[in-house]
Formats: sequence, C-alpha cells, structure tokens
Amino acid sequence: MADDIKAVPTEVIPVDPRQPEAAVIERAAALLRAGELVVFPTETVYGLGGDALREEAARRIFAAKGRPLTDPLIVHIAQIEELERVAAAVPERARRLAEAFWPGPLTLILPRGEHVPRLVTAGLETVAVRMPSHPVAQALIRAAGTPIAAPSANRFKHVSPTTAQHALADLNGRVPLILDGGPTTVGVESTVVDLCAAVPRILRPGGTSLEALRQVLPEVEPPQPPRASQPEHEEGEAQRAPGQLLVHYSPTVPLFLFEGEDQAQRTAIVADALQRLERGERVGILAASEDVETLRPCEERGALVRAPASLEEPEKVAAALFATLRELEAAAVDVILCRSFRPVGLGLAVQDRLRRAAGGRIIRVDPSATAAEEVR
Ligand code: AMP
Ligand code: MG
Repeated sequence: MADDIKAVPTEVIPVDPRQPEAAVIERAAALLRAGELVVFPTETVYGLGGDALREEAARRIFAAKGRPLTDPLIVHIAQIEELERVAAAVPERARRLAEAFWPGPLTLILPRGEHVPRLVTAGLETVAVRMPSHPVAQALIRAAGTPIAAPSANRFKHVSPTTAQHALADLNGRVPLILDGGPTTVGVESTVVDLCAAVPRILRPGGTSLEALRQVLPEVEPPQPPRASQPEHEEGEAQRAPGQLLVHYSPTVPLFLFEGEDQAQRTAIVADALQRLERGERVGILAASEDVETLRPCEERGALVRAPASLEEPEKVAAALFATLRELEAAAVDVILCRSFRPVGLGLAVQDRLRRAAGGRIIRVDPSATAAEEVR
C-alpha cells in the first residue's frame, strides 16, 4: 500500500455551506486544476477530491488515503451535461434515476468513458458517477472545470468523516487544503446503484433509500449481504466485488453489534456492559433514545452512553452515526456495544455500516434464550 507520501502542511479554511465565498472556492479550484487534492464537504460525508481526468491526481488520492488501487473512486459532476464526458453510454434507466435524485446522495455505475483513467475505476470498464447537492461541492466542481474524483476523506478502513475535524484527524499532513463547511447533513455515503447489470441492483445502501429508488424504478434489487470472510485484496489484484469488503467502516475500537427483538437487545447489552465494567473495562454504548432508561445502571457505573436519536428516526441516526463512533473512539473506550436499527429508509445504510464496523462481531439475541449467542 502506498504510504510513502511527502508531508505537506494542511490548511483548514472555513467556508459558508450555503453561499460559499467565491475567493475560497477559487483557491481550492486552483489546487484541483494543478492536479492537487482538496478535502471538501458534500451532503453525505467529506470527500477527498482530485481531477478525475488526470491519473496523477487519482494516484495522489490513493496515496493520501492509503487505499488499495483495487478500490474504485466515485466521479463527481456538477451538471447533467458532464455525464457524457465521463460515461460511454447513459441507459434510459440511469437517466430516470438521475432526473429524480440528482443532485443528491445517489451514485450510478455506468460504462466508463474513455477520458476517465483506468486508475480511477480500478481497472474496471465501468465508472461510478454522482452529482452532489452540497453548494460547496457544486461550486468547487464548476470552478475546477473538470469532474472530481472523490472518495470519503478518511484513511482507508476508518470511519468516514462528517466534519472537517474528522478529515483533519485522518489526513493531516497528507493534503494541502480542507474546506470546513460544518457537519454534513445526510451523514452516510451515497447509495451506489449498478446500471450495467441486467437488473439494476444496489451495491451499497446509502443516503437515497431503496423505497425511494423503487418509486422510480420498481425493479431495483436490494444489496446482497456482504460476504462474511472476504480475504484482504491487495494492490494489483483483479477487482472482484468493489465496496463489498466486510470490514470497511470500522472504528479503531472493537464494536459488538446486538441484533434481535428490542427488549432482548437491551437486556443483553446491559448484562454484557455490567460484566465488562466489573472487569474494569471502559465501555461505550451506542443506543436509541428508547434504551436510555434501561441503560441507566451502566451509565451510573461509568459506561459512556450515546443515544443520538429514536428508533423511529433513521435519518437522524444516519446523520449522527459516524460522529458518534468517532466520539466513543476518541474517549478511549475498550469496546463499543451497539444496538441495531431497523433497515427501513436510511436505516438500511445504518445497518450496513454497523455490520461492517462490527466485522463479524454480531450477537444475535433471542427473547427466549437465557444467554446471547455470538455468531462469528
Ligand atoms: P467511497 O467513495 O470511498 O465512499 O466508496 C466508493 C464506493 O463506490 C465503493 O463502495 C466503491 O467500491 C464503489 N464503486 C466505485 N466505482 C465502482 C464501479 N465501477 N463499480 C462498482 N462499484 C464502484
Ligand atoms: Mg469510503
């Protein structure tokens, strides 16, 4: 993995997320035009952007993230006419999705246009394209005058950044400029839909829900569950299932995900937390507001309980998810115990990210069982 990059001072510049200052955008765009990298806010998460049509910029992105060259990048455009510049063909179904959901958190997999370097697509003959709605992202892409390749602005395998501070924590010294437009609103990455397969399928659930997609294209297939044990892919190795790495969005602390009936989850989390606290472990708990009462005894014994939203508010959970994981991580807990959220609306993306963060540490609880069974 490329980790041999020269350290550069990283500047963080505030930018108005609604009406970005022209001078700030111009400075960032000049860097992009010179083949350099800029971290910028989008409505989903912060992106690590470079000129999508220049191989050297893509190379810098992979190096700054420490991302293997087998993991393709998403190409960001600001207007629909640019789609023709990056995709070789735009099927009718893709056009309908673009009309309905762009600008917004939806990425379409299309045949690769010849001007997009193969490095950007990790050697694939398909390209991932999205039009973000965030005013800073929009203004930046326009000012740069070129499509922008941008993965999430975190080190490979770490939790995606939803603030400029998260991006700085991961990429300080590895990028010249971070535009700070405040916290992102959607909070999880875009939904990736494959339009090159016979039947359109979600490859990664995200900020556009399956339910919403099906109102436009009823035949869209839900994502396949990630494979439990996919070997690490290595540089140079052929791409098998992009984005399907099970451990991908992981905090640096082990996370145990509890799944099952609500009350059984609460009981199991309390029992597990109390045992760990007894042993002197520092315990973080990611819960829903409905759980807070039941978790009180854990909190009184020193557990850090975070309940960003109610079970009925998947969008709020999504918006707070990554920041909460980073907060618990920064509090130096030994373990994160996490409840699961229903896979409805953005809850499907939340479930996906939590299962990946757990990386197999999923504890299925059954109301009738006396002890929780750990599934590995
Ligand atoms: P990131 O931008 O790091 O949040 O991740 C980009 C996502 O898009 C990953 O899940 C990639 O594997 C996926 N992706 C990008 N290009 C392609 C492609 N050509 N085919 C399938 N998936 C892709
Ligand atoms: Mg990412």
